[in-house]
Amino acid sequence: MLGYPSCPLCGNGTFLHHDYKFYSQFTCNSKKCSHSIFVPKPSSIDKASCELLSGKLDFKRMRFPLFFIITALNLYFLNGASTRRIAQFFNINFNVKVSHVTIHSWCKKFAPIFLHKSNMLSTDLNLSDSDEWHTDETVIFINGKKHYLWFIIDSETRMVLSFNLSPSREASDAFSLFHSASKFGCPSSIVTDRFPAYNIPTKTIFPNSKHIKVSSFNDDISNNVIEAFNDTFKDWYKRKRGFKSFDSTNAFISMFIFHYNFLRPHYSLNNLSPAEVAGISYNDVDKRNWLLSVFV
Ligand SMILES: [Zn+2]
Repeated sequence: MLGYPSCPLCGNGTFLHHDYKFYSQFTCNSKKCSHSIFVPKPSSIDKASCELLSGKLDFKRMRFPLFFIITALNLYFLNGASTRRIAQFFNINFNVKVSHVTIHSWCKKFAPIFLHKSNMLSTDLNLSDSDEWHTDETVIFINGKKHYLWFIIDSETRMVLSFNLSPSREASDAFSLFHSASKFGCPSSIVTDRFPAYNIPTKTIFPNSKHIKVSSFNDDISNNVIEAFNDTFKDWYKRKRGFKSFDSTNAFISMFIFHYNFLRPHYSLNNLSPAEVAGISYNDVDKRNWLLSVFV
């Protein structure tokens, strides 16, 4: 037997091994017990879409200071300005000519740099003491085709820990999402809706967490966390008038989430960002160049 000779729960039974694509299941053969342990197979689990972004990791040959890009992101994601309006803003306020096409391209082009920055800043973040992580999927359309944006949020800090953009809505997608979020630890509880695709991934990736299944996100404990994200996301999404390709959508969402975690002040967090509440510390250069901590 693979590693689990006798059952730790009853002490009598022997574990039977069943092999599945993303996990192995070991079940106690004592009928009175039938205790199960789920062990993930990390190498078989697909990467979440947020881990697939790749590209340049520096701003070399960038004509504009980083300050401009961050300002554009704030206008775009926080104030809901169109890229044409942002181009106009730069022209009026800084006497700088930059086309709306260029501004639009920034999100896609610089997404890998912002993701890298996010990963660097979050290296020491440990959310194992978290009470609850909430997860949900929302529908978005790419070229008219239905896709799902899966996301997982720490309830206390409101940090979006991971996202996964996928054309399917299956357990394999939840496996990818949970596996990428598991680098932040294992919370007391995972809160999901009653969609069965969450059951095995939760047991496998977060074996020590309680799985809380709520019937609806409309009137329960999850209300604030999920709805705050969904409202903010949909407010921006409805102005987008559609996405064209998977890769650019994935890059835009990555930028949206960087903005949500690090730059956007949240009313429910006394106008701090989730990253600040999570205790991520910035050095002076980061504060100045990335406009982090500007609200405190
Ligand atoms: Zn047993």
